[in-house]
Amino acid sequence: MDTALEAYLLSHEHDTLRLLEELCRRPSISAQGRGLMEMAALVESLLQETDFRTQRLTVPAAPPVIYGELPGAGDYTLLLYNHYDVQPPEPLELWQSPPFEPTVREGKLYARGSSDNKGEIAARLAAIRALLAVDGRLPLTVRWVIEGEEEIGSPHFGEVAARYAPLLRADGALWEGEGFDPEGRPELCLGTKGLLYVQLEVQGTGIDTHSGAAPVLPSAAWRLVQALAALRAPDGTVRIPGFYDAVRPPAEEDLRALADLPVIDDLLRASYQVETFLDGLSGFHLRERLAFAPTCNIAGLLSGYTGAGSKTVLPARAMARIDFRLVPDQDPADILRKLQAFLAEQGYGDILVTCTEASEPVKTPLADPFVQRIAALATAYEGKRPAITPLAAGTLPLLGALRRYVGLPGLSAPGNPVYWGNAAHAPNEHIRLADLWRAVHFNCYLLRALAG
Ligand SMILES: [Zn+2]
Repeated sequence: MDTALEAYLLSHEHDTLRLLEELCRRPSISAQGRGLMEMAALVESLLQETDFRTQRLTVPAAPPVIYGELPGAGDYTLLLYNHYDVQPPEPLELWQSPPFEPTVREGKLYARGSSDNKGEIAARLAAIRALLAVDGRLPLTVRWVIEGEEEIGSPHFGEVAARYAPLLRADGALWEGEGFDPEGRPELCLGTKGLLYVQLEVQGTGIDTHSGAAPVLPSAAWRLVQALAALRAPDGTVRIPGFYDAVRPPAEEDLRALADLPVIDDLLRASYQVETFLDGLSGFHLRERLAFAPTCNIAGLLSGYTGAGSKTVLPARAMARIDFRLVPDQDPADILRKLQAFLAEQGYGDILVTCTEASEPVKTPLADPFVQRIAALATAYEGKRPAITPLAAGTLPLLGALRRYVGLPGLSAPGNPVYWGNAAHAPNEHIRLADLWRAVHFNCYLLRALAG
């Protein structure tokens, strides 16, 4: 990187920190509908101050998605995605400093949203401002979309993407990003699993009754647990016919990428507080199953009396929530149909099934030229081969909408000031300032190099 840019970045670290503090000082909690309009206005004005032409992408009942476009010198167009909302800060008593009073301690900035993902908004803004100051203009066109509902599953992003698809077109997309792993290897992530979230309800009797009547009354609780048991074998195999039909086996290149990732068994054991994993899984096989196994998980189970003492009751109602994590090319709508058909066929047609969330799995192939290009640039930047996660175990619902309505290749690149200990979504969320400087630096490098 040239000395003019290096000097600029060094002399503006303070401004970058101020920028991030300004973003973090305002609560913008989508789960509580708190502060979203104010935050949207701040984000819009920050983009405008950075020469972006902005627009509010609106659909009914959603906070505005802020969109900005900054034309550059070259033909290349890049789409950036971020979100301006954060998780609720509770429980407040576990914070060492108030969540919306950004505080620097021992080289770290503590605040709700600092790592997820206002830090990356600040890092990208700072990089773009630096390039404008040093080079006069960007080498490529940047289109930037910043939504306010990511932390509640982006319920309106599909509508936004459908309505405003032409604005989101680009040669490639950089989603909310990754960082550098403990060995300093740049991290890339190429997609996430899909999700089907359903609620199952059984009504046995009209009212809760004395359990002495159990010999003659239907039991909602038994009926529900028996239906649940029918869904999944003890070894974890999902018993719904056709559940695995669309599962595409992982590509050779994906398995090679997984095998090249550091072993994280001990880290995971410590963070989950378990002695062993299912089936004694370890190393590569643990990684492989995490990435590529679809699941049927009981996320919640409710019936009867669970308070102090005992109560001999036959509960009228039982409810369960189930999440299915889906892998390419499973389709949540197809799985929902198969679930309902299976329950009916097993004699559980009376169970009320309500779907509350559905997102498809999304994965950009490792061989995609955009992925190859970013991987090559990240390698050149750090002098270390990237750590590539082909498919993350979680779900980003917005990716399905982007693929459906815009259809551009995308990935998470290491321009985000995050590390494994960020405490995202938890009390004392923070970033390391050194990661922030590196993220700005990397984003400058990437924007220039992508245009080249
Ligand atoms: Zn996030």
